[in-house]
Amino acid sequence: MVVEEIVNRRLSAFLLWLTITVAGLLLFVLEPGKSALLPGCPFRTLTGFTCPGCGTTRGLHQLLHGNLAAAFQLNPFLILALPFLLYALLSYTNTVLRGNPIRRNTLPAKYIWALFGFLLFFWIFRNTPFYPFAS
Ligand SMILES: [Zn+2]
Repeated sequence: MVVEEIVNRRLSAFLLWLTITVAGLLLFVLEPGKSALLPGCPFRTLTGFTCPGCGTTRGLHQLLHGNLAAAFQLNPFLILALPFLLYALLSYTNTVLRGNPIRRNTLPAKYIWALFGFLLFFWIFRNTPFYPFAS
């Protein structure tokens, strides 16, 4: 692997972590729904229905303040997905720092379809009166 490519990958990983850190700091300080810098969901504004991502910003804000239960109530899908996203981010960073070639997606298609189906179910279910959490 060319040295320039390794440096570029490390720089991209650094910028990714820097972006996450700055976004996390802003999200810790600013309260979603009360700050103009953090607008509400456009889908919800237009339709009145919640989307699968509704409550993500408020949930992350609660999570950054240590309120796991409140974060789960705002968007359970986020809390369930967060460990996997964190693992993927750490794995990517580890690969880049070691200079190893980046692996292609090895997740079988049936799991991706199952995830998509679960996301679709969650989207529909959270817009029914049976959904246990208000968001
Ligand atoms: Zn939304």
